[in-house]
Amino acid sequence: MTFEALGVSAPICQAVAELGYEQPMPVQEAVIPHLLGEPQDLIALAQTGTGKTAAFGLPLLQNVARSLEESKTRTNASGHARALVLCPTRELCLQISDDLTEYSKYLPSVRILPVYGGSSIEAQIRTLRRGVEVIVATPGRLIDLMERGVASLDEVQTVVLDEADEMLNMGFSDSINAIFEQLPEDRNTLLFSATMSREVEKVAKSYLHDYKEMVVGSRNEG
Ligand code: AMP
Repeated sequence: MTFEALGVSAPICQAVAELGYEQPMPVQEAVIPHLLGEPQDLIALAQTGTGKTAAFGLPLLQNVARSLEESKTRTNASGHARALVLCPTRELCLQISDDLTEYSKYLPSVRILPVYGGSSIEAQIRTLRRGVEVIVATPGRLIDLMERGVASLDEVQTVVLDEADEMLNMGFSDSINAIFEQLPEDRNTLLFSATMSREVEKVAKSYLHDYKEMVVGSRNEG
C-alpha cells in the first residue's frame, strides 16, 4: 500500500516521502481514505505512536488546500481558519503543528499556527490577524483569543479533538463546550482518543453526528 493509493495528493506524498515514510501505518490506511471521501464524523480509538497525526493531518491538509483552490474564484480571501485541531498540552500542540508544517511543505497556501498557553499571546494575535488556515490549539488559550475577537471559527470545516480523553481528564470540558458553540453546524468532527471513557462518550453524543467508529491497534488494556 502507498499513500498515493490511499488518495493522498502529489505534494503531500512528496513531503512524507522526504520524511522517510515509506508506507502508511494501519491507522493511516484506515482513516485517510475515509477523510478524503464524503465527510462523515469519526471516532478513532488509537494510542500515541500509532501514526495518528498523519492519519488526520494528511487528509485535513489536502481538504484545506482543495477548499482554498475552490474559493480562489471568490473575492473574499478572509484568512479565517478552515480547520482546527484541539489537543491537551503545549508539547502536543507544538508537535502536531510541526508535523503539519512538514506535511504541508509543498502546500504554500496553507498556514498553520500553534496556539497554547504560557507563551506570548501578542505574537499569536499578530499571526492570526495576518490570517491562518489551520489552528492547532490548547482549549484555554483558544478561548482567550476568541474572547479578544482575533480567532473566529465561523469558517472551520474540520475540527479534530486529539487525545480527547486527556483533554477531558485535564478539565477542559467547559472550554470544549464553549468552542463547539462557535463552530459551524455543518463542520466535520473527528475525535481521537486512547480510551473510550464515559466523558469521551458524552462529548461524542453532544457534538458528533452519525459517526463511524474505528479501533486501531490494541484497545485500552483496562
Ligand atoms: P504519532 O502517533 O502521530 O505521534 O506518530 C508516531 C511516529 O511515527 C512519529 O514520529 C511519526 O513521524 C512517525 N510516522 C507516522 N507515520 C509514519 C509512516 N507512515 N512511516 C514511518 N513513520 C511514520
